[in-house]
Amino acid sequence: MATDVAGNLKRVAQSLPPHVRLVAVSKYHPNEQLMLAYNEGQRVFGESKEQELSKKAEQLPKDIAWHFIGHLQTNKVRFIAPYISMIEAVDSLKLLREINKQAEKCGRVIDVLLELHVAEEDTKFGLTLDECRDLLAAGEWRDMKNVRICGLMTMASNVDNDEQIRAELTTAWRFFDEIKSLYFAQDEAFKERSWGMSHDYHIAIECGSTMVRVGTNIFGERQY
Ligand SMILES: *Cc1c(COP(=O)(O)O)cnc(C)c1O
Repeated sequence: MATDVAGNLKRVAQSLPPHVRLVAVSKYHPNEQLMLAYNEGQRVFGESKEQELSKKAEQLPKDIAWHFIGHLQTNKVRFIAPYISMIEAVDSLKLLREINKQAEKCGRVIDVLLELHVAEEDTKFGLTLDECRDLLAAGEWRDMKNVRICGLMTMASNVDNDEQIRAELTTAWRFFDEIKSLYFAQDEAFKERSWGMSHDYHIAIECGSTMVRVGTNIFGERQY
């Protein structure tokens, strides 16, 4: 049976409190599936591969706000810089510099999130809390006029243990408050906590999420 994308989207959207935004993660799903969500009013979509994203962005309606949610190689930044709405997974100063440089070339300011590593799995990308502290303390980011740091993004461990997920996301939430008060207290743009995926977004919302990235619960299983 075909996936009921419209119905799924409605269910997920209705389960979110008003202050939590939905990023519909459409990676590996074809344009037709995205359009089913689009026609229900969804405008924010998340992708994690540059080539797939660029192709979709070219073919699909121009009022879609695309979020890049995967690991982004520096040599791919220039391809998405002209149109990307938010780059969610900035995990190095080198990447931040490149985004700033390419955004400047396009005459844009690109919204970004810093990606934290709080999961126990060491396969996941992201800055440790100390690496993130060091990056901000070093201060170079203050001179980057073409990036705007809007908050933090993270992924909890992919486990069935709700308490572990809760502990990891609570760590991220506390860390957000620390960074906010140290560096962004006067900066209204720094407000996003992007955590929560299909299996854990209800917990993530209890742990301060402002933005959930949900794929499978909307589009069904991905065909790799
Ligand atoms: C694929 C992906 C998601 C969505 O995962 P689902 O389990 O399908 O909801 C969320 N965040 C990131 C970073 C992803 O790569």
